[in-house]
Amino acid sequence: MGLTDIKSRIAKAAKTAGRDAEDITLIAVSKVQPNARVEAVLQEGHRSFGENRVQEAAGKWPDFRETYGDIDLHLIGPLQSNKARQAFELFDVIHTLDRPKLANTFARLAQETGHCPPLFIQVNTGEEPQKAGIAPTDTDAFVKECQSLDLPIQGLMCIPPIEETPSLHFALLQKLARRNGLSGLSMGMSSDFEQAIAFGATHIRVGSAIFGERVTETP
Ligand SMILES: *Cc1c(COP(=O)(O)O)cnc(C)c1O
Repeated sequence: MGLTDIKSRIAKAAKTAGRDAEDITLIAVSKVQPNARVEAVLQEGHRSFGENRVQEAAGKWPDFRETYGDIDLHLIGPLQSNKARQAFELFDVIHTLDRPKLANTFARLAQETGHCPPLFIQVNTGEEPQKAGIAPTDTDAFVKECQSLDLPIQGLMCIPPIEETPSLHFALLQKLARRNGLSGLSMGMSSDFEQAIAFGATHIRVGSAIFGERVTETP
């Protein structure tokens, strides 16, 4: 466990897949972790982090940025439209564009501010009713809709159903991304990032395997 171990596992998985480890961004998911654990990883020189709540991120990252300089902050949790403006200010990349209404809000904010972070569209690959995301069959049309709004779509993101084989979902996301000419694939967590790398993940989101188990779960 820990950052060094994860990095060597990434290198190994990349090599097995015939890929360059440099093409894989490790997002250290720091949600609900005690600040001391996050600082330890910052002190090791890591600079890409993920949070799933705007409020929580706003509470800690401005200070960390002041102390540690440039940090790439990724939003990986659901975003309410009324927090979109704050998310634009705080995050460098947003992985959870999951509905048409949010796309319209982003387009409006982009016009108004002259800036829009790179975006990933969240796809509900397992078609789970309780989970956010665009249905696989609606993905092609939604990508086009976002592109017609001039949104910078970098790729697709998924969170596979817990009880299913993740590889099937990674393969589906890879197929959808390729078919739409998108290069980014945000997939793979602590328990399955090596499989995600085998299916072309460019952004893996790893929390507990770096920081240890979360003390409290996010609601
Ligand atoms: C919490 C979270 C992760 C990290 O999960 P771990 O199993 O701790 O690696 C990755 N992606 C999303 C969307 C998350 O909410």
